[in-house]
Amino acid sequence: MKVYIGTCVTCNKEIYCKDGFLDGVNERGRLYCFTCSEERQQETEHNKN
Ligand SMILES: [Zn+2]
Repeated sequence: MKVYIGTCVTCNKEIYCKDGFLDGVNERGRLYCFTCSEERQQETEHNKN
């Protein structure tokens, strides 16, 4: 089962929910694909240093 959720706010990639598993990250109501989410996390870690 594949349900359309929305698009990544960064790259506009379509994000689906597959078998109850979200194919991305919902961060404060905004959707990100895994690629953009990882990049955001790396930027956050980088900014700490
Ligand atoms: Zn993305």
